[in-house]
Amino acid sequence: MDKNRKKGTLYIVVPCYNEEEALELSAKTLLDKLGEMQKQEVVSKESRIVFVDDGSKDRTWELIQQLYQQNENIIGLRFAHNRGHQNAILAGMMYAKDFCDYTITIDADLQQDINAMERFIGEYEKGSEVVYGVRNSRSTDGFFKKLSATLFYKTMRIMGCDIYENSADYRLMSAKALEALSEYSEVNLFLRGIIPDIGLKSSVVHFDVFPRMQGQSKYSLSKMLTLAADGITSFSIKPIRMVLAMGVLALLVGFGMVIHIIYEHYFGYTVSGWSSILMSIWILGGAVLISLGIIGEYVGRNYLETKRRPRYYFWEVLSRDERFEHHEV
Ligand code: UDP
Ligand code: MG
Repeated sequence: MDKNRKKGTLYIVVPCYNEEEALELSAKTLLDKLGEMQKQEVVSKESRIVFVDDGSKDRTWELIQQLYQQNENIIGLRFAHNRGHQNAILAGMMYAKDFCDYTITIDADLQQDINAMERFIGEYEKGSEVVYGVRNSRSTDGFFKKLSATLFYKTMRIMGCDIYENSADYRLMSAKALEALSEYSEVNLFLRGIIPDIGLKSSVVHFDVFPRMQGQSKYSLSKMLTLAADGITSFSIKPIRMVLAMGVLALLVGFGMVIHIIYEHYFGYTVSGWSSILMSIWILGGAVLISLGIIGEYVGRNYLETKRRPRYYFWEVLSRDERFEHHEV
């Protein structure tokens, strides 16, 4: 497999959550693209598209079933509940790793330019194990999304995570990289941070982003905040260190205050300073609560990790491949 990297078997992994509006067109576009790449011998005839239904409540699974009936290049995986985008991608990739030479993950709304795929594959053929898709611009995003994304990537970098700014979950992973990824067993999953951590040879492909054509964004504000919190807490204990630094600082200020108070007492101004006491109660109270909150985030995540619950479980699998056994990961 390594010697000849041409015409490998590609599995395209597509996470879908309530995508009934987008799925039909997306599936057709992806199938056309795959057909074209097979015809031009860019990828092998065994290449497939894996739709992962992340516990959708609409007709998404029905559509995937139909697609599976109509086309033998399609595989459908289904979660019983909504486990989130990151778990859906991971499940698709872990399913694919035993059958493919490489996977490309792409969103079901096809906001990411599918014509970048050949360039991803080109980089793989030149020897990269991971090819990151990095978006050209965020012009199609709203103001809030742009601002929150910029803040997020900046924070992640400050926290010491080796993440590419504006890297999406549109990327190619070789079977070798997938094997390495399967060794990372954390429940608190942030792929954009974990994958650079694997440290295999990688490269970057720039691609364009289009506006979402059908349906609404499935990333609610709370999902975005969870992703950000997962990202930060899974990668760094810097926030806890910051809490410690804040505590030390408060203690130093406290010592200063003692000197100040003795001085005030000596000169008999003891009644004044009521306002400063009140202020410090609020400020310190706030700092203590925030600190507890940050530590709580870590303790909570530790709790989730120690339970070692499966990250996902396939409820239904539509696959023509008899090598597949129903298993949990
Ligand atoms: N998605 C998912 N589970 C979720 C939320 C989203 O599998 O809980 C999928 C969704 O179907 C899409 C991809 O993740 O394929 C990206 O979501 P979306 O396009 O809504 O996010 P945005 O582009 O607005 O960031
Ligand atoms: Mg989208």
